[in-house]
Amino acid sequence: RRVTGEQVREALESDVNPFTMQSHTPQHKKILEARKKLPVYSQMDEFLKIFSKNQIIIIVGETGSGKTTQIPQFVCYSDLPHTKGKMVACTQPRRVTALSVAQRVADEMDEPGTTFLNYMTDGMLLREAMNDPDLTRYSTIILDEAHERTLATDILMCILKTLAKRRSDLKRIVMSATLDALKYQKYFSPKHGEVVPLFKVPGRTHPVEVFYTQEPEPDYVEAAIRTVLMIHRPEEPGDILLFLTGEEEIEDACRRIKIKADELTSQDPDNIGPFICIPLYSSLPPQQQQRIFDPPPPTRTPDGPPRRKVVISTNIAETGLTIDGMVYVIDPGFSKQKVYNPRIRVETLLVSPISKVSAKQLAGRAGRTRPGKCFRLYTERDFMKELDEQTHPEILRSNMASILAKMFIVSPEFKCSNEILTIVTMLSVQSVWMQPPSQRTEADPAKHMLTLRGGDHLTLLNIHTKYGANGQDKNWCWKNFVSARALQEVDNVRLQLQCIMEKFDIDLVSTGDSNKSYAAIRMALVCGFFMQVAHKEGEKGSYLTLWRRETGLKSTGIFVR
Ligand code: ADP
Ligand code: MG
Repeated sequence: RRVTGEQVREALESDVNPFTMQSHTPQHKKILEARKKLPVYSQMDEFLKIFSKNQIIIIVGETGSGKTTQIPQFVCYSDLPHTKGKMVACTQPRRVTALSVAQRVADEMDEPGTTFLNYMTDGMLLREAMNDPDLTRYSTIILDEAHERTLATDILMCILKTLAKRRSDLKRIVMSATLDALKYQKYFSPKHGEVVPLFKVPGRTHPVEVFYTQEPEPDYVEAAIRTVLMIHRPEEPGDILLFLTGEEEIEDACRRIKIKADELTSQDPDNIGPFICIPLYSSLPPQQQQRIFDPPPPTRTPDGPPRRKVVISTNIAETGLTIDGMVYVIDPGFSKQKVYNPRIRVETLLVSPISKVSAKQLAGRAGRTRPGKCFRLYTERDFMKELDEQTHPEILRSNMASILAKMFIVSPEFKCSNEILTIVTMLSVQSVWMQPPSQRTEADPAKHMLTLRGGDHLTLLNIHTKYGANGQDKNWCWKNFVSARALQEVDNVRLQLQCIMEKFDIDLVSTGDSNKSYAAIRMALVCGFFMQVAHKEGEKGSYLTLWRRETGLKSTGIFVR
């Protein structure tokens, strides 16, 4: 029996909360009026119909249309997870949004914290999937903000795809704020069979006028501060959203803006309205993050100059968080992005130029309430010529070793942790093969001699073993066209990883028998489970990610040799 929109609306309007059997509070009624104005709300009937008929749905809708807060609630009304001892999970790429949304939805549902609707980070669900691959606790799993293409969400997507066979009862929803939703639709649709439905939520956006600087700005923080004050002085009412890259920069800008604004106010109190500056970044405690929803201070006189709220945020407010009332957006063109350098094996957060898609998302934040303005602190030429089309998915920028961990943990069971340790280390350094173009004819047969039929992993292990057996001799390396430098590095890194394994009480063991150990290693590799997700052996001993094969997305490029 299908739950209809009419029934849900009736339950929402009724005096009793159907989940708690307690009376609805006045707060619930008040928030409900605001919820009714969200674009998704008017599509409740359509959503419930599609949800009841399909195991998987892709949802696309502009930021602020109500996807994150409303869809999981609709699902709960339809699924009634609490009656079957199950839960609904909704993942967020960021802790900040997971916390803030969980709080907001608890308020909307009139419950201090639901036990059947779980907003969590994608990383949390991924860890859960490592222990419980069938994700048995859940009746529905919603992957939200899929367009952010975080590593954990990308991997979860693959897990959910494969889970369909084992958990035919599990419902899955992927939500995205951009049209890359079509990619997910294609990814989840069976080759021969019905196409997965795409549920579109209409946006509610107004036009946004975009301004560029005439010249490149040497100091974007300075330029941003100037722009905030420039807006505050003569522009129409409306709040300002300024994007900066990190905590220090944000706190510093807040301080400087406050000082300048106070100066201006004392010089010209009749024309400068009251002003509040609120920082937002992920390490801020949740209560303080909630301050972004506070109204600005009251105007001093009814027809006095407009009051204004300025929120200075990292890109967490790019799509995940909607702050109503934003009319002006300032986009310096930079954000901190995770960059992995496979050569030195370090993952770093680097301040890097944003992509065109991101810039458009940021500008979109200005047009939610009424026509808005977006000030880009770079030239139009730079926008056209310098910015990448899209931010590369994290899976292309990350060190996969942190996912490779599971294999480590199972490896002693297969009595091959020693070998796995070597393989992982070999994978993490630069290629060990030397292929001088001039000596191709000599190098290729040498490579062939070292290659094992069992695949690249075993071949890597073989090289390391032979290198050891030959007394780590540089001449041996030279003759066999493998890099002595890379192998030395392997031994260094191997020692470091060995320390880490010891710390976690993972025994270093080998079977001793090389035939047995090859089989064991392959079992551990498969057990690694996520390894399969990350890469798979292709034809000529090169690695291809499963992603590349199945989705047409780019391969990780990390282990491709
Ligand atoms: P989407 O996921 O489509 O971007 P959301 O469901 O996150 O949209 O937000 C819908 C609306 O809910 C926002 O426009 C805002 O009005 C309100 N909202 C969301 N989170 C909060 C919050 N923590 N406090 C107050 N209002 C919120
Ligand atoms: Mg959202």
